[in-house]
Amino acid sequence: MPKAVLRLSHNLHLWNPAGYNVGGEELMSKHVIVIGAGIVGVSTAVYLRRAGFNVTLLDKQEPGEGTSYGNAGVIASPGITPVTHPRLPLQAPGMLLNKDSPLFLRWRGVPRMLPWLTRYMKHCTQAHTLRITQALYDLVNDSYREHEAIARGTLAERHLCPSDYVFVYPNRAAVAADAFSLDLHREYGFRWREREGAELSEYEPMLADSGQTFSSPVSVSFEGHGYISDPGEYVKDLARHFAEQGGEVMRAEASEVVSEGGRVVGVRAGGEVMKCDVAVLSCGVWSGGLARAAGVKAPVETERGYHLELWGTNTAPRFPLMLTPYKFVLTPMRGRVRCAGLVEFGGLGGGPSRAPLALLERVVRRTFPDLRWERKTEWLGHRPAVTDSIPLIGGVSGLEGMYFGFGHHHIGLTSGPRTGRWLSEMIGGRTNMDLGAYSPMRFAKN
Ligand SMILES: Cc1cc2nc3c(=O)[nH]c(=O)nc-3n(C[C@H](O)[C@H](O)[C@H](O)COP(=O)(O)OP(=O)(O)OC[C@H]3O[C@@H](n4cnc5c(N)ncnc54)[C@H](O)[C@@H]3O)c2cc1C
Repeated sequence: MPKAVLRLSHNLHLWNPAGYNVGGEELMSKHVIVIGAGIVGVSTAVYLRRAGFNVTLLDKQEPGEGTSYGNAGVIASPGITPVTHPRLPLQAPGMLLNKDSPLFLRWRGVPRMLPWLTRYMKHCTQAHTLRITQALYDLVNDSYREHEAIARGTLAERHLCPSDYVFVYPNRAAVAADAFSLDLHREYGFRWREREGAELSEYEPMLADSGQTFSSPVSVSFEGHGYISDPGEYVKDLARHFAEQGGEVMRAEASEVVSEGGRVVGVRAGGEVMKCDVAVLSCGVWSGGLARAAGVKAPVETERGYHLELWGTNTAPRFPLMLTPYKFVLTPMRGRVRCAGLVEFGGLGGGPSRAPLALLERVVRRTFPDLRWERKTEWLGHRPAVTDSIPLIGGVSGLEGMYFGFGHHHIGLTSGPRTGRWLSEMIGGRTNMDLGAYSPMRFAKN
């Protein structure tokens, strides 16, 4: 039996700071069930409720306990280039042999993943990279403002921190070697400031003694971005706001989207069917099974990532610092510094591997020799990775009332609010944007 965990009075006077056209009787009579309460599902539920729908948000856990809990917290508008860039096939073998590289394989999980990995690697061409970059740019540009729009006036606002997003390179040669990605950023209008030597030490004192890792560090700062000081609490606060606005939060595991005559009529959860007119599937990496049942073989797999949190540190970075050779970020979070990132392929099963966590700690100790902490915590998370690195956002043809919002890979925290707004506009029939690049139907015939 599904359990209502947060149920407040159904207030018809909806909070409407974004100036949305709050729907009348017609929308209020439509019941939408959003399955999955990570940043994507919660954002979708908030916008649907603001538009006037009657909304239930369903999760097998409390909101914000999946991948949205442990990420690096960066609102990463510069995150426009996919992992599958043209140089990856040449770099990957060497990376796997290097114990200091951020790429790991959990060999036991690899055989089952091989078909997915093969399809994924086929996207390492210039043409695919350019196409994917355009789709990701449209989803992530200006995302700090998108977070302000969803969080303003809610408890979640307290977690929003305006900040630079700083990429740290070991030396000038490493900056030059990243020209493909930096040139793409320039083309898309991103501007940055480079610093080194005394100027860099003054800007970010933590990098002053990083000599054991970075011979002559250079920082590339994207200004005017931001981060979330506690991503799990941020999602929970947005869910609290949703409940305060009359939304319903239920704790139960969805096992089936029930349809009749080509349209959604309910969601089976905890053994019973809850009636609805519209279902939104936003279960992150766990979306594949329910998507298949809806007729779409979505190639979504886990790209495992890790965090190491250092609590009670004697100092903290001023900004999120992406250590580019190691592909992880140090983010100053509430009460701790979170070091999050890395990439491990190897499936959903099995617990954390030691090597990635050991790499995080080794690099932190080497790069910041004066950093001390009282205790540490560790976490393994599952980025929902689609073979073409573009999330599935939109309706499912042939199944009226079925919508998807999953597959956000490395940029789900950044783009969750925009995804939610787009889905709400699609469901309300209020968009004339061409969102074909994200259509789930590109996988309908696989
Ligand atoms: C180490 C790491 C660092 C990252 N850093 C960043 C970053 O700095 N910036 C950024 O933008 N992104 C980052 N990401 C990516 C980002 O965290 C994800 O893209 C995002 O959290 C995905 O959100 P989601 O809502 O799709 O999924 P999730 O947060 O995983 O939510 C899915 C929810 O669905 C629920 N669920 C699953 N199955 C069912 C079911 N059958 N019934 C009911 N509920 C179900 C789960 O319990 C879960 O709560 C990072 C990821 C990792 C791993």
